[in-house]
Amino acid sequence: MMINNCDKTLGLYLHVPFCAAKCRYCDFYSAKAPRARQEEYVAALVRNLEGRSASAKGYTVDTVYIGGGTPSLLPASDIALLLGAVRRYYTLGEQVEITMECNPHSAGKGDLAALRAAGVNRLSIGLQSAIDAELSALGRPHDFKAFESTFRAARAAGFSNINVDVMFGIPHQTMDSLTHTLKTVLDFAPEHVSAYGLRVEEGTLFWQERNALPIADEDTVADMQLLVSRTLRRAGYLHYEVSNYARAGYHSRHNMRYWLGTPYLGFGPAAHSYFEGVRFEAPRDTAGYIEAVGWGDLAALKINAHSPTPHEVREEYVMLRMRLFEGIDERDFEARFGICFEQAYGDLTRYIEGGFLTREGGRIAFTERGMCVSNAILSEWLDFGQ
Ligand code: SF4
Repeated sequence: MMINNCDKTLGLYLHVPFCAAKCRYCDFYSAKAPRARQEEYVAALVRNLEGRSASAKGYTVDTVYIGGGTPSLLPASDIALLLGAVRRYYTLGEQVEITMECNPHSAGKGDLAALRAAGVNRLSIGLQSAIDAELSALGRPHDFKAFESTFRAARAAGFSNINVDVMFGIPHQTMDSLTHTLKTVLDFAPEHVSAYGLRVEEGTLFWQERNALPIADEDTVADMQLLVSRTLRRAGYLHYEVSNYARAGYHSRHNMRYWLGTPYLGFGPAAHSYFEGVRFEAPRDTAGYIEAVGWGDLAALKINAHSPTPHEVREEYVMLRMRLFEGIDERDFEARFGICFEQAYGDLTRYIEGGFLTREGGRIAFTERGMCVSNAILSEWLDFGQ
């Protein structure tokens, strides 16, 4: 977790834009697609991995993340093909973390063993809730039983690093039902738990129903967040990021890249990259992506390219680092930006006295309570709140 300005390591993100059906809350770039389209897409990804590899010379890839969408909809042989290309065209670190997202309905026993053999060493399983009525309210294409058998099959296949996604603020969810979900998840003893609050995003089915959705009010959702944090901490998980909890040594090394601002290259439609000081993304268009890769037109896959200004770099630094429970090292902040934190953002006393911030050992960090209102506090400091 140390910060290294001369970081020559790199993360790769591979997006799989396919899902069996659209969950009611989801605004990720994904859709149903026939097998022929999936095959074309995997071939395009392989070609794109090759095409971009020259720019990554001199970097060691130490994290690979296959996300979506639902990567586990693809047969394991496709994932092996992708990881083969990663190995062929990039220099991989010895301890490379290779994560794949997996939905309970879509990963069979044989697939999981084949994925493990292909080199996937971290699995992220999207559960969201242990209560079937809540899963169906979300439009998830699986029930709790499917999760149970997937998790057990993953362990049997040799996965010793598993994340489980849970959600709070789900329609009809109560403090009791959330307690049940957490308890159930803990019985499986995953190495990592991600817990996100439901957000009703524009363009989703929930957005259309937003005025009639039976969801908890803001205060209850904040209580749910505290319940998650207390339950998981009590069970021995380290709450290392606003929404992420891990057993010692099992934090998501790939996601740490996003929060620490270290480089990553994204592949596939809607994938984001941050490389050599430039942020860019690919258009949300699978057909266009396949076509552009076919033409070798890499420029078409690089939109909204932007080198953050020094001011934006500082704002991003604060916004992302404060998501981490280790917070901001005041000396590092001053060395980077030539100004001390309080000169930049004002007196912190009221936040500390209010129990929202701690300032210990030269670090400024949110408390558990502060994490629940972190957006409100950050918006007082940063331009995005103006
Ligand atoms: S499975 Fe995941 S990516 Fe696919 S629709 Fe549901 S939430 Fe979105």
